[in-house]
Amino acid sequence: MPGPQRTCIACRSSHDKKRLFRLVAAPDGTLVWDLKQKLPGRGTYSCPTLKCVTRSLQAKKLTHHLRQPIEDAATDGKVQELIALCRQNVFNSIKIGIKARKAHSGHTRVCSMLTRGDVQALILASDISASRQHELQQLAEAKQLVPNIFATCRELGELFGVESRSAVALCDQGIAQLFIHQFGLYRTMKEGL
Ligand SMILES: [Zn+2]
Repeated sequence: MPGPQRTCIACRSSHDKKRLFRLVAAPDGTLVWDLKQKLPGRGTYSCPTLKCVTRSLQAKKLTHHLRQPIEDAATDGKVQELIALCRQNVFNSIKIGIKARKAHSGHTRVCSMLTRGDVQALILASDISASRQHELQQLAEAKQLVPNIFATCRELGELFGVESRSAVALCDQGIAQLFIHQFGLYRTMKEGL
């Protein structure tokens, strides 16, 4: 069943509103990203691509669609802010995995989980050592898993309350799907830069 549809104000195509980014304006004209789509008031939608987001952030266009005056300055830094929010959502999806005890970290542990075939999504830190990356990549390939390169060892470690983690394995399908969805949004936005 398709959910409610909304139109991207940049390219005018219609999509399930859950697939779009929502932007709302406070009474003072400040723009707020509403990724959970829960804030009251009139909002605009754009496709989750850098191109549509950038084109949707035009004061004139927003003034028209939000039916209130939006200053040019209100859109300053809004793209970077959205990318940061998307990155935070990726971290949040890993945190959900940790809370559910379905996220595991540490090189040896992740290696043995990959060997057993328990891993639904594999995350490697961008600053992982070449030898560890090689070892994990080979194990992942054997299970037809594509590793996702995200964050730094320090940032991944912080999630687990330790100093450093180079690899994280998600072993629940639903949580892995959530991670892959959020990571996809973040990557699409970031790589469009
Ligand atoms: Zn669009």
